[in-house]
Amino acid sequence: MTVRTRFAPSPTGFMHIGNLRTALYAWLFARHNDGKFILRIEDTDQGRYVEGAIDVIFNTLKEAGIDHDEGPDKGDYGPYVQSQRKDIYKKYALQLVAEGKAYYCFCEKKGATDGGIGKYDKRCLRLTPEEIQANLDAGKPYVIRQRIPEGEGESSYEDLVYGKITVAYKDMDDAILLKSDGMPTYNFANVVDDHLMHVTHVLRGNEYLSSTPQYNLLYDSFGWERPQYIHLPPIMKDRERKLSKRHGDANFDDFIRKGYLPCAIVNYIALLGWSSGDNREKMTISELVDAFSVKGLNSSPSIFDEAKLRWLNAEYVRELSEEEYLKIATPWFDKSVMAGKCDYKFLAKLMQPRTEVFSEIPDTLAFLAEHENFDLELFTNKKNKTDCAVAKNLLTEAVPVLENCPWDNDSILECLVSLSEKLGVKKGAILWCVRIAITGKGNTPGGASEMAILLGKEESLRRINYALSRL
Ligand code: GLU
Repeated sequence: MTVRTRFAPSPTGFMHIGNLRTALYAWLFARHNDGKFILRIEDTDQGRYVEGAIDVIFNTLKEAGIDHDEGPDKGDYGPYVQSQRKDIYKKYALQLVAEGKAYYCFCEKKGATDGGIGKYDKRCLRLTPEEIQANLDAGKPYVIRQRIPEGEGESSYEDLVYGKITVAYKDMDDAILLKSDGMPTYNFANVVDDHLMHVTHVLRGNEYLSSTPQYNLLYDSFGWERPQYIHLPPIMKDRERKLSKRHGDANFDDFIRKGYLPCAIVNYIALLGWSSGDNREKMTISELVDAFSVKGLNSSPSIFDEAKLRWLNAEYVRELSEEEYLKIATPWFDKSVMAGKCDYKFLAKLMQPRTEVFSEIPDTLAFLAEHENFDLELFTNKKNKTDCAVAKNLLTEAVPVLENCPWDNDSILECLVSLSEKLGVKKGAILWCVRIAITGKGNTPGGASEMAILLGKEESLRRINYALSRL
């Protein structure tokens, strides 16, 4: 048997992290088993449809490295977009009606749910064939409902993550299968499509765990083989709250915009509900494919931990080639105080080991901005034996030396070190004073010469002279 899984998103505009995890697991499961992965667009709820949302789905999957074998753009069991399958659903719904396993319902939306706990009271099940025909002839709007067997009985299945799930008929509703606009509900479409697309394993969020017995009754009614089910636990913000769907919080795009790398996001979300069993956390996508198995899936909710995502992201940032890093960092350099003011290659070398999340680059570089009133006490440093008086002396000596120095890292270092030898002070003393003078900061990513290169000769000297004017 070839394993076939599917990802069935509704085009609602964003790719929530939870949806992406479902896609990833379904894809990993298919790839691990040399199976096929199908992309199906579930757009039957036209009220929720958002323009451009299908592009978001395609782009996100592409960026995440999740490729599909069948979907709206290819495959033998299409169409793979539900709104284009209306005739198919209708045919199967009418088949169930003909066999007495579903029925026409002409009730208005309201007023017919007094069958207990909001259930439909089955009143249209009692219509005679003549009444039904008369209603149809009169063009009365109708829905088609699933007929849950009356009386005792229950429906069970074995979920591969949650174990045996059983629901009694009396706790099921005669759910609508086909709406009055001819569109199927999820209840019906998921069954018809998963069957016709030969899906063998259904991976989806556990909000469907307890309605699955009812879907299984439909498989049984048709005489179709049921798929295997792998329901996935929710992703939580903390112990009580689900990761919210609010914009800015939990969408793939938001994390990309914040400057996370797709490979880090994918690696991290793979761990939200699954573990390799050998404590590995940093895993490439092909390592994930090799290691993925249902055994590693957890039935308890997992908590989204952005600190851990940061850590993983930083690891992947270190592994980028210099060119890759520069390419991704350039738009962030452009947004910083260093925009257009220095050699980005040099800046990239300095920043790569210090970048956790790209969007933080402008803030990290903000210290290079003007520093008019910095605290002169920063010149005081025990180890280097410096204070304001020493700084004044050393900086005065440094100015003419730097004025005549070629502006590259080695030359600047050489000039300053030989000046320290000439003056008989520690080289740390002069480097300290120069660095404080040009940055006005105690901590900087890189030393005096590197900061001097970033700021350029003219600006560095201007800043040293300005510091001198205050000393
Ligand atoms: N369209 C459903 C959703 O987005 C899919 C559920 C499923 O995978 O069957 O929640």
